[in-house]
Amino acid sequence: MASHKAGMFSGFMSRFSRDIGIDLGTANTLVHVGGMGVVLNEPSVIAINKDTGEVLAVGEEAKRMLGRTPGHIVASRPLRDGVIADYEQTEEMLKYFIGKVSHRFLLRRTVVVGIPSGVTEVERRAVLEAAAKAGTTKQYVIEEPMAAAFGAGLPVDEPSGSMIVDIGGGTTEVAVISLGGIVHSRSIRIAGDELDEAISSYVKRAYNLFIGEKTAENCKIQIGSAYPLAQELELTLKGRDLVSGLPRSATVTSEEIRMAIQEPLAAIVDAVKLTLEATPPELAADAMDRGIMLAGGGALLRGIDRLIQKETMVPVHIADEPLNCVAIGTGMVVEALHENPVIRKMLEKSSRP
Ligand code: ADP
Ligand code: MG
Repeated sequence: MASHKAGMFSGFMSRFSRDIGIDLGTANTLVHVGGMGVVLNEPSVIAINKDTGEVLAVGEEAKRMLGRTPGHIVASRPLRDGVIADYEQTEEMLKYFIGKVSHRFLLRRTVVVGIPSGVTEVERRAVLEAAAKAGTTKQYVIEEPMAAAFGAGLPVDEPSGSMIVDIGGGTTEVAVISLGGIVHSRSIRIAGDELDEAISSYVKRAYNLFIGEKTAENCKIQIGSAYPLAQELELTLKGRDLVSGLPRSATVTSEEIRMAIQEPLAAIVDAVKLTLEATPPELAADAMDRGIMLAGGGALLRGIDRLIQKETMVPVHIADEPLNCVAIGTGMVVEALHENPVIRKMLEKSSRP
């Protein structure tokens, strides 16, 4: 009876005190809660009343306002380019997301936030502070490629090189990891957003048609590709005629879209090549044996693995859940933190206030 009660009590306690891992992405923020997996996945968007400074909406609701707001309301992505463009907005966003999962987990404990590897010292501190203000008891940050590598199941703590390429919305991060640390990394501000922009400008040029951000992204997801398809696709896009100003549509093919996104894709491939070239030979050899691991939403672009494989001559794999990799990785790290002194040391080093 007593042990039954104790069991109930500890069950009760663990229900109310779980560790949190957060992927603070340029496009999407995901929250992982220990024992439960990814419980929140929303766009990294915040809508503010410019006149009063009041936060009107965050996440999914705010994304619906993008491009549709009257003058005094601004909906923006504070991390769009992989740097924190606005601290206050980032803080509000983090607070909102942590708050949203916290009503179910009353006593929050430790939080690990994955941040783009290009952020400055000041930005890093701002994230730690924001996480503290959101009501967590202990805060750490981890560089996203590191978290992605954990989440993708790479043997990051072994003395052997692993290469991870995380193609997000605003940034592509390429990193070689060994012994629990980033040996060499490169972050470029060319990723999913640039592919969308390349599609918009192509459609403008070729069809005199102006399409919105969401239409361009949808086109990329529906028919976009980095490598010729066995069965080429087509899609009808709705937009506004540049000459008459009236609504009109045009049908585009996957071949056209592949041509349109060639430039930003080449920049992503170059980042991978340059990182391989700059990696110490032993580790590059490991990466060649093991292959390159792709993560992030961009890994879902048709044929991106084949393109990178062809250009680098290194085998390429796509992570099981590319969009969830970083969140799962932060969740793994925050759980391992309590038992694994190597991980604790690594986090403490990167999270000094
Ligand atoms: P971040 O970590 O920067 O928040 P994500 O890893 O969440 O970014 O990826 C978001 C990007 O992935 C967006 O540019 C989105 O358009 C793109 N994306 C999502 N799904 C697909 C898909 N099926 N094909 C191509 N791109 C995709
Ligand atoms: Mg990401």
